[in-house]
Amino acid sequence: MSQQHRSRPLGSSVALSEAYDTALLDLDGVVYAGGHAIVHAVESLGTARAGGMHLAYVTNNALRTPDAVAEHLTELGVPAEPADVITSAQAVARLMADQLPSGARVLVVGGEGLRVALRERGLVPVESADDDPVAVAQGFGGPDLAWGRFAEAAYAISRGAEWFASNTDLTIPGARGIAPGNGAAVEVVRIATGAEPQVAGKPLPPMHRETVLRTGAERPLVVGDRLDTDIEGAFNGGVDSLLVLTGVTDAAQLIAAGPEHRPTYVDRDLRGLLTGQPEVSEEDGRFRCGGWTAEVRADALVLDGEGDGIDGLRALCAAAWTHAGDGSCALDADKAVTGLAL
Ligand SMILES: [Mg+2]
Repeated sequence: MSQQHRSRPLGSSVALSEAYDTALLDLDGVVYAGGHAIVHAVESLGTARAGGMHLAYVTNNALRTPDAVAEHLTELGVPAEPADVITSAQAVARLMADQLPSGARVLVVGGEGLRVALRERGLVPVESADDDPVAVAQGFGGPDLAWGRFAEAAYAISRGAEWFASNTDLTIPGARGIAPGNGAAVEVVRIATGAEPQVAGKPLPPMHRETVLRTGAERPLVVGDRLDTDIEGAFNGGVDSLLVLTGVTDAAQLIAAGPEHRPTYVDRDLRGLLTGQPEVSEEDGRFRCGGWTAEVRADALVLDGEGDGIDGLRALCAAAWTHAGDGSCALDADKAVTGLAL
């Protein structure tokens, strides 16, 4: 564990797939983007699995059931069983079952994934505030969720029902652009009620707990593309993480990350599971990785050298994170990042 070590990306002398027993993989931006697999994902995951690493898929999206997600993964060439998929619907269902009596009625604002998860925990999904629910469960409902569902939630909450949300991602990326996510839907209900939901999804502990309970992981490695969900969730759970650059995070955002958003390792894509990770060394405020040297000079991050750009990014992260300490690095990094050709 490396929770105290947030001032630079760590090195590893062995492949990460050997150093950790289980990969807890985010899906969107890591394994797939919409309907197609991310570059190098299929073969990298196949090799990691063949080498004995357990692969689990962890998603904040509560819409689909684990069966449906596993089927989609298998179609893409990543064979997965429903038991390998952990959703925020499962996490919020457990959170609710821990607080509500067995058989309690729960008003569902969301999709099939949420209903199945609630039933699995002995709770009874209902559709109307007039069914006397003791709680409201809100998860992403997809494009067909009717506006009237938010009204039902508001009625139930105003009558005293406890409010739970699977996750609060404000947006959800799709093939045609960025759409409002469950967090935006939660805001609709919040504005109408003034209430505050209990939330389960990444980066909060209920999701990480659900993942560890279901996988039995002893040395898990969280693999994700988002700093404020995947990486922060790993930080909150006290486990190591690998950030891949195939999703929403770019080099500049990573360099500027505060401590809870700094991953243990950084790589381009899922091929990073199959290799060791180079050390970043320091001498007199100069950080070296591969053929690159990064340092702070006149309020800017400066990068010299040549070679694999991802090593240059590791060196820049070390220089920026060390300089920023417990804060976020506000130094100008534009010129240094341009030289990376990532
Ligand atoms: Mg993602």
